[in-house]
Amino acid sequence: MKKGMILFMVSILVACTSNIKEETTMPKEETITTMTTTIQTTGETTTTQEIIETTKAMQSEKDIDDYNSIYVIINKQRPLPENYEPSDLVIPNVSLMKELYLRKEAAKAIEEMFEAALNDGIELKIGSGYRSYAYQSRLYSNYAKRDGEEAASRYSSKPGQSEHQTGLVVDLAASNEVCYLEQCFEDTKEAQWLFEHSYKYGFVLRYLKDKEDITGYMYEPWHYRYIGKEEAKKVYESGLTLEEYFGLVE
Ligand SMILES: [Zn+2]
Repeated sequence: MKKGMILFMVSILVACTSNIKEETTMPKEETITTMTTTIQTTGETTTTQEIIETTKAMQSEKDIDDYNSIYVIINKQRPLPENYEPSDLVIPNVSLMKELYLRKEAAKAIEEMFEAALNDGIELKIGSGYRSYAYQSRLYSNYAKRDGEEAASRYSSKPGQSEHQTGLVVDLAASNEVCYLEQCFEDTKEAQWLFEHSYKYGFVLRYLKDKEDITGYMYEPWHYRYIGKEEAKKVYESGLTLEEYFGLVE
């Protein structure tokens, strides 16, 4: 009964929100809060938090499933198809370890971030960006041959399961490449700068410490995911993994 009630209210809420959004310039978040407050005065058992959470889950549902959305969630349970390749790949105009590509929006954001870092005396480099399904396939089988399948699956992805195939992901390094792809990168001033500032440019640290059971991957202080400035700030402040933030974890 309670759940039905929430869903009913959320339906109204979503309907109202979309109407309002078209008519005014009120920011989405504010609109939801206003509507929620109104509804809450007539409801007895539904809390504001419950409505906001259910609404957020409903709104994000479509985006995280769309391969071309900047919110798409890719992990071991949610792979990309073999033929998926972003249509807007460009070479970012920053220091690179090799020729590599990112989706246009992410490339622009990384250019902005590297410039800001430089202003703070931090020199960064991209080590890896977009990876095709075929490339990931070769990479994974090499790692599996070297370290065994179980060990390889903790730090590398099977083809289709790599977020790098979205073109929204970078592996970052210090310009001197010290501790590149190693846990000790965490202690470099470059990594520290990224922990503190990357969200302002739309990037979040994807594989957080002690969250391997949720993300499926060990802590990677170098692997950053572009998700847009607005969402990155919220994710950063929440301290959650993307899986938790988008309600994919019970
Ligand atoms: Zn990576």
